[in-house]
Amino acid sequence: LVRLRARLARSQSGFGKTLLGLLSRDTLDDDAWDEIEDTLIGADMGVAVARQVTEDLRTKVAVLGTRTPEEVRALLKEELVKQIGGDIDRSLKTERHGNKPAVIMVVGVNGTGKTTTCGKLGRVLVGDGRTVVMGAADTFRAAAADQLETWGARVGAKVVRKEEGADPASVAFDAVKQGIDDKVDAVIVDTAGRLHTKTGLMDELGKVKRVVEKQAEVDEVLLVLDATTGQNGMQQARVFAEVVNITGIVLTKLDGTAKGGIVVQVQRELGVPVKLVGLGEGPDDLAPFEPEAFVDAILG
Ligand code: GDP
Repeated sequence: LVRLRARLARSQSGFGKTLLGLLSRDTLDDDAWDEIEDTLIGADMGVAVARQVTEDLRTKVAVLGTRTPEEVRALLKEELVKQIGGDIDRSLKTERHGNKPAVIMVVGVNGTGKTTTCGKLGRVLVGDGRTVVMGAADTFRAAAADQLETWGARVGAKVVRKEEGADPASVAFDAVKQGIDDKVDAVIVDTAGRLHTKTGLMDELGKVKRVVEKQAEVDEVLLVLDATTGQNGMQQARVFAEVVNITGIVLTKLDGTAKGGIVVQVQRELGVPVKLVGLGEGPDDLAPFEPEAFVDAILG
């Protein structure tokens, strides 16, 4: 948590400072409120959310009358936490059920950090004393299976893979079978993120899921989004949400952007909670998403 704060603060404090500065002005006229809204939009919160936050704040400030910096910060924090969904359940389903492992599918466009997230998630689970199998069902990207294998060795998880270009569904099937045979706690399936056509994606992910479900329940479908891609990431999220039932978002590369506002937008538009955040390329750079800590971090 301390690390989350430090990293986010480093990349995002500019946003918080600007906002708090604007809100602390002696007179808040229409222009000032427009600037506040623009700052929120600039942080990728999306126009609708930015407008809502601004309007709510404006109402609260009007009611309060006096505004100390502490009051302003508290109001802003309250509003942002509310928009993010402060009390939403963000727990990950990673428990074995019956004699079956939990199955976690990791989906998303190539380059967003899918494979890295699988590795880091493996690390978290193994660190918790669980046993893990990972399936390299991203058979499209040449290096993905090698990369996952490296992660497996690093975190102590068996990796099931096939040759490049193999049917992703068959790799996923084998990985889950291996997980059942080995009686592990969880199977993490890395998938291919070709976004060539929506139907192609739907066919592929749908098939992977159906094939997995022949043997075990899919407990989580985690969509990986790269926070640095802003509105583009939002568009990806819409497409994936249409083709597969997403249970949670992993927002990666938050260490490299001042635009974490996409958290707010994803939550609100898709109703899917952000469950984890990626804060770097290392094995320990995956953290649970905590709205209060997140907002504290961006406000600096
Ligand atoms: P995939 O194609 O979606 O499987 O993406 P990869 O897992 O190969 O990641 C793409 C690049 O992003 C790699 O260089 C990763 O090291 C990097 N990456 C992944 N997650 C993070 C993160 O949270 N922070 C940073 N800074 N880099 C990340």
